[in-house]
Amino acid sequence: MSYFKDSEVWFVTGAQLLYGGDAVVQVDGHSNEIVKGLNNSGKLPVKVVYKGTANSTQEVSAVFRAANNDEKCIGVITWMHTFSPAKMWIHGLKDYKKPLLHLHTQFNKEIPFSEIDMDFMNLNQSAHGDREFGHIVSRMRKNCKVVVGHWSDPNVQARIAVWMRVSAAWADSQELRIIRFGDQMNNVAVTDGDKVEAELTLGYHVDYFPIGDLVVYQDKVTDADIDELVAIYENEYTFADDCKKGSPYYNQVREAAREEIAIRQFLIDKKAKAFTTNFDALHGLNQLPGLASQRLMAEGYGFGAEGDWKTAALYRAFWVMGQGLLGGCSFLEDYTYHFDGEKSAILQAHMLEVCPLIAAKKPRIEVHPLGIGGKADPARLVFTSHPGDGVAATIVDMGNRFRMIVNKVEVLSQNKPMPKLPVASALWIPKPNLEIGAAAWILAGGTHHTAFSYDLTNEYLEDFADIAGIELVTIDENTTISGFKKELQYNDVYYLLNRALKS
Ligand code: MN
Repeated sequence: MSYFKDSEVWFVTGAQLLYGGDAVVQVDGHSNEIVKGLNNSGKLPVKVVYKGTANSTQEVSAVFRAANNDEKCIGVITWMHTFSPAKMWIHGLKDYKKPLLHLHTQFNKEIPFSEIDMDFMNLNQSAHGDREFGHIVSRMRKNCKVVVGHWSDPNVQARIAVWMRVSAAWADSQELRIIRFGDQMNNVAVTDGDKVEAELTLGYHVDYFPIGDLVVYQDKVTDADIDELVAIYENEYTFADDCKKGSPYYNQVREAAREEIAIRQFLIDKKAKAFTTNFDALHGLNQLPGLASQRLMAEGYGFGAEGDWKTAALYRAFWVMGQGLLGGCSFLEDYTYHFDGEKSAILQAHMLEVCPLIAAKKPRIEVHPLGIGGKADPARLVFTSHPGDGVAATIVDMGNRFRMIVNKVEVLSQNKPMPKLPVASALWIPKPNLEIGAAAWILAGGTHHTAFSYDLTNEYLEDFADIAGIELVTIDENTTISGFKKELQYNDVYYLLNRALKS
């Protein structure tokens, strides 16, 4: 969870002075206790900081301005303890730029039926106070996650935790630099898109660097640096016999290590947290940097193959959201089908670049020829993935908007050995089944590349799409093709009108 430790989420309680200063003092005490309870729950990855009650337009504006400007603050949770007239939230909300969560809770858990009187009611009136606040958020068309339930409920805390993880990924995205070594793979449409609009909408910045700039770094790597990294490989992975020291492919593993050191240093120097490669742009490199991409992904660097900067950014977001969770995430590509009725599945893989965080067992270093790219035989980690549920997602550029497509998937245990397959893989059934899942994905214009995670659920991606203000379509056990087609048509109209209203 170390990635989250420098961040804060602010907790702001809405009240007013109608009931007198004493009531506000009590509200303050209750808020403090709620925030303490949330922080002590052990369920939240990010610290909640109580910022006091807001009782006027000026106080609301001041706290949201401060939240916008505070580097640690990644989001604000609001709660209306008493009735907080919502016109006083207009200016603050209009200026506020970060993620917003409306916690619809109440300090008191159960109604004390034999004791309840009007004083009790006036101190526990979130049920209508939060509705007044909700109205203005909705009236202003501001996206906001609404979480309902008692603050001590683990399910409520789990939903806040999801939003915190997403908010951290969003904050990361706002300062994310993505480096592309080479351009898109020629002629490929779905991985390309409007990089200016991406920076406006999603926050990240995409830069091109010629491969020659990386070659300069590569040439500075010493034998001692390579010895050190190969020793780490020997510790972490099983080596194929022909890759071991003294064997024909050992030098190719060393060349892969050289590329890994060069790319990592390049990214550090450029303050970049994501990168793309292209097998067609490797002049001056020994091999396609497959092993390097796999290991850098595991460290958290976003990666997309063939210039796919959108998936590189999304993988980075997945990795940030999943920090401290154990399932793992990867860049993947729909590769080969297994048609078998209701158990029809897709073998996910890539030319080389699959993240070892999803491996079922200790990965194996192997070197094999690679037909395309015209370079020497590249090293790679080979493994299959552990079984479990997960989500695969992509973001595509629809011309007038970005669309996020999410598919729930079930990764199967790969109990049939594939001794001749020289790459890492995962075998999954898309929900609700291959027939509907793949058809819906294709109708939505989804990529062949995805970011995949065992740790995330639809809720994470819904929060992410809401914060970004982009379209979201989800394919899961409830999807039907006729319903999904209508959703795409309705969305087309919605985004057309939305754009017209803004211009
Ligand atoms: Mn690909």
